[in-house]
This record gives sequence, structure tokens and C-alpha cells, in this order.
Amino acid sequence: MQNINAFKELLRSPQKVVIVPHQNPDADALGSALGLALYLKKQQHEVQVISPTDYPEFLHWMKGHEDVLIYCEPSQKKKSEQCLAAASVIICVDFCSLNRIDKLENPVREANAIKVIIDHHYGKEDFADIEFWDTASAATCELLYQLIKDLGYRNLIDGDMAECLYAGVMTDTGSFRHPNTTQHVHEVVADLIALGADISKVSKLVYDNNSVDRLRFIGYALSQKLVIMEEYRTAYFAITAEDLRKFKSRQGDTEGLVNYALSIKGISMAAIIIDRTDVVKLSFRSVGDFAVNDLAAKHFEGGGHKNAAGGVSRLPLEETLQKFLKLLPEYKEQLHHNHLKQKALQ
Ligand code: 5GP
Ligand code: MN
Repeated sequence: MQNINAFKELLRSPQKVVIVPHQNPDADALGSALGLALYLKKQQHEVQVISPTDYPEFLHWMKGHEDVLIYCEPSQKKKSEQCLAAASVIICVDFCSLNRIDKLENPVREANAIKVIIDHHYGKEDFADIEFWDTASAATCELLYQLIKDLGYRNLIDGDMAECLYAGVMTDTGSFRHPNTTQHVHEVVADLIALGADISKVSKLVYDNNSVDRLRFIGYALSQKLVIMEEYRTAYFAITAEDLRKFKSRQGDTEGLVNYALSIKGISMAAIIIDRTDVVKLSFRSVGDFAVNDLAAKHFEGGGHKNAAGGVSRLPLEETLQKFLKLLPEYKEQLHHNHLKQKALQ
């Protein structure tokens, strides 16, 4: 309650607001950033969204996308820094630790503005003045909807905002399939529909936007790159930079691939390890109680949620893979136990 009163007070007069999503923003990060931007503009604030890095084309339909500054684009760096220096408020959405915003970390850390967190990830760093942080929320967009409602401005949510928020909730719940899909999630979505969200349009824009190259890449990865370690109830892909080049892979093209590995019957953990040239990126998924965010935090400078997490490695791809494989015996018992528990639940 203290936070909401402080936030209300802060927004009582027009502010210069910068909104920052995490690097490689997904639909929840960008949807909450743009949804919030639309809301604050209606309240007469000056708003600029600055993304640390670019994002995939299937998010370009979101209202306000054209105005987003991309910090890592050399031509947009100066303007971004000017906005940050002039900002009276910086709102961080869908992340809670400043190492999630790439090269924006220091400019945001050093900015004089009042800092606000709106997020649902674990591992919160103590840098913000006002926090709306709830790890029980399925999505930052769910949390943001509730915040706007609690502020008393549900009536300001229009169709464009509702669609941005819906996209975040839809993707972060895996289209309402993950265990984070609560009654509250469905209530929020029902209200977003009432407020004008065209949900089948959003679903089509986000999911049915494949290039032929991407589909062929998925086919190649499934047939040539998927490895099953039955002993460890684990399935993984290791994708080389050459694989990405061969299929003209664009940002976002590898998204969702790891879920195919997790969909295999009897699998407790799935991983995808991708050579992104500058770093090796890892994504983990699990079912049940096996906490991949712990594994990612302990071994790969990462984090996330219990069943969906990620991290990085500065070793070459092959060495990263060997490091991952060497970890499996350490988790064998947990993975096996998790599998038995899942089986008992069926
Ligand atoms: P994805 O595998 O889809 O990239 O990410 C899954 C989840 O893990 C997301 O909630 C994301 O925020 C988190 N995550 C992904 N990569 C990292 C990382 O490098 N560090 C941390 N702390 N979290 C990550
Ligand atoms: Mn999220």
C-alpha cells in the first residue's frame, strides 16, 4: 500500500518518464513497457521507452513500437542518454536486477531519477525507490493491469493497451497452459477482452508469423540437433553459429524451440544452448518441482522462474555443453524423483 501511495503521489504532477524493459524484450517486457507508456501518456506525462536491445518483428504490431529507442543502436544511443539524464522517473519493467539491461545498466544505475520496479522475477536487486514486485504473478502485464486498476484508472485502459497487456499474459503463461495460469489470470484476461482486446488477432500476430526459414530451422533442429538423455530425464539442443547462419536466423527465431524438448513424455528438464558469437546463451525449462532458475543462477550467471530460466556462458559452445553435461549427475536424483512425482500425478 505504501508503494501505491508513493506512486500515486509521484504521478500527481506531469513527469518525464523513461520506461525500460529487459534486454531482448519478449512480449511481456515490451507489452508492459508499451502498455504503461500509453497509460502514462493519457495522464499527461512525457514518456519514452528505451529498450537495451532490439526485439523480434512479431512484436512490431504493438501500439507505440515506432517510438521505442534501441540503446545498442549507435544512432539512438545519444538520444537515449539525453532522455535518461532528463528523466524524473525511470520505470523498470519485467526485470528486477540491473544486469538484465545490458549496456543500459550503468546509465540507469547512475541516473538521478526516482526508480520504480514493476516485475515478477526472483532475484530482486535493491536499487528502486518504489517497487511493485510479485513473484506469484504470472506476468508483468498481469501485475501492471492490477496496478492501474488499484490506482483507480481501469477506465483508461483502451483496446490498444489491453492488447499489449494480453500479449504478455498469453506468452508468459504459455497460452494459459503453465501452472502460473491462475483464476486471477483468467479474470484479468476476461476484463482485457471487455476493455477491447481482440485476442485471436493478438494470438495470430504473435504465433502465426513464421518465416519459411524459421519453420525449416525448427525441422532441422528437431531432426538433427535434439539429444535425449533418458538417464537424466533431460533433453537438449546445442545450436551453433553456423546453424543460425544457414537458416538466416533472425532474432526470436529460436524462441519456443526448447518447449518442444520439454513436451517429450517423461522429460523433467529441457535446455537449449545457442552460440550467439559474443556469448553462449542458455535457456532452461522444467516440469514440476525441478527448479531451473537455481541451476541457471548457480552455474550460468542467470535466473528466472522455477520452470523457465536462462543464463549465459563465456566459454565456447562445446565447452559450455560439456559443462552442462557434467552437471547432470549432480541433479540426477532430483530429476528422477521429479519424474516419478509427475508420473504419480498423471
Ligand atoms: P528465455 O529462456 O525465454 O530466454 O527466458 C526464460 C526466463 O528466464 C525469463 O523469465 C527470463 O527473464 C529469464 N532469463 C533468461 N535469460 C536470463 C539471464 O541471462 N539472466 C537471468 N537472471 N534471467 C534470465
Ligand atoms: Mn515476464
